[in-house]
Amino acid sequence: MSFPTDLEIAQNADIRHIREIAEIIGIHRDDLEYYGKYKAKIPLTYIDEEKIKKSKLVLVTAVNPTPAGEGKTTVSVGLCDGLNKIGKKAVAVLREPSLGPVFGIKGGAAGGGYAQVIPMVDINLHFTGDFAAIEKANNLLSALIDNNLQNKKFSLNIDPRTIVWKRVMDMNDRSLRQIVIGLGGSNNGITREEGFNITPASEVMAILCLSKNFEDLKNRLGNIFVGYTFDKKPVFARDLKAEGAMAILLKDAIKPNLVQTLEGNPAILHGGPFANIAQGTNTIIATKTGLSLADYVVTEAGFGADLGAEKFLHIKCHYGKMKPDAYVIVATIRALRYHGGATKKGEYGQPNLQFVKNGIDNLKKHIENAFKFGLKPIIAINHFATDAEDEIEFVKSECEKLGVKAILADEFVHGGEGMRELAEEVVYCAANCGNDFQPLYNVEDTVEHKIETIAKEIYGADAVNYSQKSKAQLKTIYDLGFDKLPVCMAKTQKSLTDDETKIGRPTNFKVTVREFEFAAGAGFIIPILGDMMRMPGLPNVPAAEGMDIDLNGVITGLS
Ligand code: ADP
Ligand code: MG
Repeated sequence: MSFPTDLEIAQNADIRHIREIAEIIGIHRDDLEYYGKYKAKIPLTYIDEEKIKKSKLVLVTAVNPTPAGEGKTTVSVGLCDGLNKIGKKAVAVLREPSLGPVFGIKGGAAGGGYAQVIPMVDINLHFTGDFAAIEKANNLLSALIDNNLQNKKFSLNIDPRTIVWKRVMDMNDRSLRQIVIGLGGSNNGITREEGFNITPASEVMAILCLSKNFEDLKNRLGNIFVGYTFDKKPVFARDLKAEGAMAILLKDAIKPNLVQTLEGNPAILHGGPFANIAQGTNTIIATKTGLSLADYVVTEAGFGADLGAEKFLHIKCHYGKMKPDAYVIVATIRALRYHGGATKKGEYGQPNLQFVKNGIDNLKKHIENAFKFGLKPIIAINHFATDAEDEIEFVKSECEKLGVKAILADEFVHGGEGMRELAEEVVYCAANCGNDFQPLYNVEDTVEHKIETIAKEIYGADAVNYSQKSKAQLKTIYDLGFDKLPVCMAKTQKSLTDDETKIGRPTNFKVTVREFEFAAGAGFIIPILGDMMRMPGLPNVPAAEGMDIDLNGVITGLS
């Protein structure tokens, strides 16, 4: 018999009523806001700053991934189950997936194999409506902007050519990337260029994920930069008096969502910002809720450690005033083969010790980087059926030479049972490894210094180049007074450099900032080092074509 699909495993799971899951972490059933039997929102009143200080935060990151993904979510869910297996009270706190990519090539993003969060289909689709609320809040601002252009009496004198705010929708639809709106005569708005981004790329998403409460949320929403007036003055969402109404639309989305793992352990999924132009990790509110309710929170930072973990540590930890107690780097044998030169799909799926030997340097660089932050990493070798014994042994011994432990993570096939050893090590390290996180830069530093620190220390670059365009944009950032914000680097996840074809651990390279953007509401500057996807498209044969629902409502093909 072949190994069941993620969907089959999820559909056959023994799912418990969400009030039973809530009980495990001390949430009273009457306090939950139910979305059916298996999903519920947790009120913000469960955040307990005193308890947060005593709990342990476990950050899961990864080497630079192959195009297939290396299993951070899967390992995070499995580690939560593993910690519970060894008697610890742990919750997984993760992002909620975006609906659009499910119908493309990516499939679901709720873990895999026997390490998943359920109800899997709901989580991957509309879930509790947070993405829909974010979309509405975003598009309300768009409607207010266009209405102001139309309105002569209360005009803010906005120059339509300078508007950077875009509409969003949670669907992969490339034909909406660049459009013209306001056609059809003077009653139908001012004609201008516009475009759609996918919802997780919305600044509203980034804002929700960094907000501590409604006041903070409204402040950040009001600070969204819209564009300029004809006389070159900046216009913000607050000038349109948009923030109150936008916040109303987010009144439920601000509350974290409780679900369960396949093993009936609590999982909180909340927020899902992109990891390229945004911070790529769940809400601060969810992380704090998890730390308030359990002794261990396992959380994930998107993409590889050079992007996701760096942003987690410099942006989320900065705004959330938190730091990790344990730091897990997910490495797969296939990713190491990839970094060693096996760049074709069929090739990195085949055992080959030489490729692993060539590619180990990528992992070593991420280990060194962890130490720079004052964190001792634990390596989780996410076990695939195609891993050979000698390849695994090689990785373990190389890590040992660097003074770190590499442990096989066998969650995909064995769930929490396959994660006992990793869980024990995480518990040990959170208490005894002396982790004392320090950021690599100070937000008060110049923008150039912040970027250079990341490029040199984290990527291993020799220098940073700036395009003419980016230099002009940088001047604007200084003029507007946004230079004291953290930076949110936008570059490829596939390489430590800004060139996705440079695998392994590249040396003797420079990176180039092509453009700058800033998210004044979310609170970061975005140096753009490559092409950025804000509205993905669908592939030639979209996953949607293989999906169906039968007379009984049973779904197939959603992997
Ligand atoms: P990430 O969070 O790093 O993007 P995911 O956890 O979403 O990665 O995993 C990416 C894909 O790989 C998923 O389809 C998942 O089911 C699959 N996967 C993860 N770990 C394993 C494993 N050990 N064996 C087989 N497939 C796996
Ligand atoms: Mg993931």
